[in-house]
Amino acid sequence: MVYLDFAATTPVLPEAMQAACASMTERWQNPSGRYAAAAAAAKALDADRATIASALGCGKDELFFTSCGTESNNWAIRMAAQRSRRRGRHIITTAIEHASVLETCRALEQEGFEVTCLPPTPDGHIDLEALRAALRPDTILVSMMLVNNELGTQLPVAQASRLVKQISPEILFHTDAVQAFLKVPFSPRTLGVDLLSLSGHKVHAPKGVGALYVRKGLRFPALLTGGGQENALRSGTEATAQIAAFAAAVRTCHATAQVDWARMNDLKVYVLDKIARELPSVEQIVVSDAPHILALTMPGYKAEVLVRVLGDRGVCVSAGSACHRGKPSHVYAAMKLDKARRDGSFRVSLDRATTRADLDTLVAELARARELLFPTMS
Ligand code: PLP
Repeated sequence: MVYLDFAATTPVLPEAMQAACASMTERWQNPSGRYAAAAAAAKALDADRATIASALGCGKDELFFTSCGTESNNWAIRMAAQRSRRRGRHIITTAIEHASVLETCRALEQEGFEVTCLPPTPDGHIDLEALRAALRPDTILVSMMLVNNELGTQLPVAQASRLVKQISPEILFHTDAVQAFLKVPFSPRTLGVDLLSLSGHKVHAPKGVGALYVRKGLRFPALLTGGGQENALRSGTEATAQIAAFAAAVRTCHATAQVDWARMNDLKVYVLDKIARELPSVEQIVVSDAPHILALTMPGYKAEVLVRVLGDRGVCVSAGSACHRGKPSHVYAAMKLDKARRDGSFRVSLDRATTRADLDTLVAELARARELLFPTMS
């Protein structure tokens, strides 16, 4: 199999599996217990939190574990709205956010909040002047993702947060960094954000674990009340095995991040060059900034069919975002791509272990699919 859908999910690294296994067999006790074995589990949890916090560039007391990126985004947005509702009811986000941000904002609209969705520029970025124009005295939150999951573009979060904080330090700034973590260099402080979401399964940890960064000193409402875990902000017995795996995966990926980024960028140049020479009917939709995502289109063809034909030959790519389960991509709609380009759009996403041979297979199978589908699609 040639798997090129790493923006959808990644395989669990062996060291992450081993860490989860050790947690489940050797340190399975409840970290809240009052005996020595429980203290060992609590100590391991603390060390895992420190590992991820250090890779992210924040204090371990600023990192709170969740079950996934979706939960982190929901928590950040809902609780930011709850915290600031007396000051205002206006939220700004972008039209190209992940559904876990957009649907949460939509739900808040039902509760009386007003949401402004900034449209993307034709190259898949966000215009800071549009953000400035959207800010109002009653704006309480701006949520702007760092790397877009369908386009691979990096949005100007640092500049946007600076602009917002200059106008009003009271406005909270959240960024969904699920696709950016360990793919592009940043820290919450260099970005100047208050809240930042992560997901484990995008960085070789198992599904079922994520994290929310909450800036130190920010009084933020609890998501779950109960036994007081996660500094009383997200109660519930900690998912120690998933967290152990998350930390092990982050340790490995962080150690080789610079080399991996350079390799993936080289691979991107390699495959784009090969496509330009061998498959001129395939176009890049926008120039991606992140090293692991390529947004491509074969105008005149249906991406769902193309993806199925490639899949039958063992080549896994995605049509639009895997999270949309076949629904048309809101990102491409917001980009106002013409129908032929939108229908033919697919995403190729790379990983630290992707090789030139994988990409050679992709290009060969795309060429084969084009020949095969041509009679029906012409
Ligand atoms: N945000 C972005 C940008 C994503 O790409 C995804 C998943 O694809 C999520 C959030 C949701 O993360 P999770 O699958 O951990 O809920």
